[in-house]
Amino acid sequence: MIVEQIWTANAYRNFNYLIACAETGEALAVDPLDHEKCLATAKAKGWTITQILNTHEHRDHTGGNAAMVAATRAKVLAHVNARDKIPGMDRGLKAGDVIKIGKTAELECLDTPGHTMAHICLRAHGDHPALFCGDTLFNAGAGNCHNGGHPAELYQTFASQLAKLPDNTLVYPGHDYIARNLAFTLDREPDNAKAKAMLPKMESQDPGHALVTTLAMEKEINTFFRLTSPSVIKRLCEAFPDLGEHPDPKTVFLKLRELRNKW
Ligand SMILES: [Zn+2]
Repeated sequence: MIVEQIWTANAYRNFNYLIACAETGEALAVDPLDHEKCLATAKAKGWTITQILNTHEHRDHTGGNAAMVAATRAKVLAHVNARDKIPGMDRGLKAGDVIKIGKTAELECLDTPGHTMAHICLRAHGDHPALFCGDTLFNAGAGNCHNGGHPAELYQTFASQLAKLPDNTLVYPGHDYIARNLAFTLDREPDNAKAKAMLPKMESQDPGHALVTTLAMEKEINTFFRLTSPSVIKRLCEAFPDLGEHPDPKTVFLKLRELRNKW
């Protein structure tokens, strides 16, 4: 399996992806908003795009579908409950479904509600585990719940699915928000040395050659995985004095999500 991260350089800071079979050159395009860049990349690599996967129904993820289908006749795949929101869907996906790309690449569908209620993350198993997580998990952050989502569902997705993936899982999110998210981590946990060391590097990184984090790194720098950190809880109690000394992780997550909205 070969992964190509495509930086769109648009105002929303979207990342698109091509995932290809090394043997046949068949490729799946993830959220190919910038269809021109995706098509140019596929052409340069000698790949054929046969499938499109939308992680969820938002326009900045589906807006390239029509042009991509016109150019490639690729099949459109998305969460089964996105059918009435994404025109021209060919395959509705549920938890545990497998997407095959060519002969050698295979992805497992995770049903990951929270950012929206029809959100799919793709998981690659094997020697190089990876997660294509759309707007559910970002580098050092979590998706918002403003447009059709629910914070409690997002917490469940983090706690019961994402946190349990192997530590060496590579994280491929739908947007480049790492610098701003690290700044939020430091606002919530000023003594987080890893986040402090990373922030200046990430502020000056070229998103065209972005750092790919692992889940182990996320557990160190992502506030939404650090729900039992004493300094996160201590800071949170300053904002919410009624929280008590030992708030449960779900309450911490929901308060952090609330603060991030206003931040
Ligand atoms: Zn979205």
